[in-house]
Amino acid sequence: MNEPVRPDDPPPSETGDAAAAVPPQVFRQAVEQAALAISITDAHAHILYANPTFERVTGYAQGEVLGHNESILSYRVTPKIVYETLWAQLKRQRPWNGLLVNRRRDGSRYLADLTITPVVDEAGQTTHYLGMHRDVTEVHRLERQVQNQKTLIESVVDAAQVAIVLLDENERVLLDNQEYKKLIGDLGGEPAAVLLATLRPEIERARARRRSLANREVLVQQAGRAPRWFSCSIAWFEEQDVSADAFYEPAKRNYVLLTIQDISELKQQQEAIRINGLRALLAEQERIQALRETLAGAVYQLEGPLNILAAAVKLQDRRKEAGADDPLAAALEEAVRNGRETLDTLRASIPDGAGEQALPVDLNTVVRDILKLSTPRLLAAGVVVDWQPAPELPAIPGRVTQLSTLFKQLVDNAVEALHESRGGPRELRVATLGGTDHLEVVIEDSGPGIPDEWRFKVFEPFFTTKGADQHHLGMGLAIAQEIVARHGGTLDIDAAYRSGCRMRVQLPCASGGPA
Ligand code: FAD
Repeated sequence: MNEPVRPDDPPPSETGDAAAAVPPQVFRQAVEQAALAISITDAHAHILYANPTFERVTGYAQGEVLGHNESILSYRVTPKIVYETLWAQLKRQRPWNGLLVNRRRDGSRYLADLTITPVVDEAGQTTHYLGMHRDVTEVHRLERQVQNQKTLIESVVDAAQVAIVLLDENERVLLDNQEYKKLIGDLGGEPAAVLLATLRPEIERARARRRSLANREVLVQQAGRAPRWFSCSIAWFEEQDVSADAFYEPAKRNYVLLTIQDISELKQQQEAIRINGLRALLAEQERIQALRETLAGAVYQLEGPLNILAAAVKLQDRRKEAGADDPLAAALEEAVRNGRETLDTLRASIPDGAGEQALPVDLNTVVRDILKLSTPRLLAAGVVVDWQPAPELPAIPGRVTQLSTLFKQLVDNAVEALHESRGGPRELRVATLGGTDHLEVVIEDSGPGIPDEWRFKVFEPFFTTKGADQHHLGMGLAIAQEIVARHGGTLDIDAAYRSGCRMRVQLPCASGGPA
């Protein structure tokens, strides 16, 4: 019988014997009714006691295990080293916790999460062991399943031909694949940071609308490295916070999934196709231009004699008024009329270059394309090109083919001038400059330049400084001038430039010039 507890007695915890406050049968009942499989053994692991949960978990009735070693539950797959570790720990009178594969009475196996505590008497001797275990087979199965799925996902992600990276809400990398790792080496930094920075305004808009971003093309240009194109897709998703804090108050974590595909090769192919298309278009333009030059030249050549003929008719007319009825005058009149009709027909058959529709044009692209197209010629002529595009250039209303023809003409002229200059550097400097009302393109060569007295004449049709044997009709700059005028701009030669020739094209930012 326990001593009754009096009200003025100090609490049992203060006396250092809290267990004394609990009647001994409560300890027994607690063990009996515990939801854990509890067993008590002697110092050799022979079972002296097993609770009902032990019976339920193992399938053995208490009477069947009493006096048996706990090894009655052991199954051969648990490595020997586990038991050796278990016993080494117990021999040091330390509790041991670990996982063992146990076999039930019916032969089925389960995973036991077991804790063994040595019971030490006042003399410091281990007299008993207390074993407590629970069946964690299902927990283990789920853990393994999650692990397997994770491994599977990681293998699939790793094997993917696109770079994949998972970022937390602060855009720190949580997970990436092999392709992404390769990109780190290629770009010499964190690819996600570079690409997301470029897409930032779009990202903000997409996030606000809770939409993902698909196949956004990003150009990465780094000094000393070839430009690279990437197609990026971004998706956002939420995950339940798994921390203990969020157990009763669920919280969410946000993640960013970025997939990156290197499309540089595709872009190069597209670019080559585009440049080839432009080359074909400009070749066609040149053919049309040659036809225009020839027809305009023919009209020009015919106009002279026809004017003389017309003057002769006028002279004859005056004589006719004096009363003379001259059949020669009638024939001449007929010839002039026919001649004018022929000239009108010729003029009408000169192909019109103004049919193209005006669209927003990026001058940097147009000029860059022309330089690309002219690369073989520039290389063959040993010309050093200094291309300085304005970093920010608004699109202007323009006709791409006509503007391409214009800049091709100016670059061709510069290359030809450089070709002629003997000795000295062969330099071509091309720059685009932004402005509020107009944009400017400057084409500068280190050739012989254009003398002051020809500064305006060179824009006249059929004016050429080259001999006729060189097949120059002198229409190139006239056509260039015409294209610029159609865009409402100006084309002039910088008189102050003395180290060669500097052509300056100014084009208005807004439409409104002549069609
Ligand atoms: P054993 O021949 O029994 O032992 C393997 C190795 O363990 C031996 O080489 C030896 O180094 C060491 N060892 C074994 N017994 C002792 C000992 N008394 N003193 C020092 N070293 C020893 N095992 C289970 O498989 N499942 C259980 O649920 C389980 N519960 C246990 C609960 C308690 C309270 C205790 C004390 C032990 C428990 N054991 C349990 C361990 C069990 O007693 C056996 O050691 C184990 O099952 C291995 O048995 P075995 O016949 O395969 O090898």
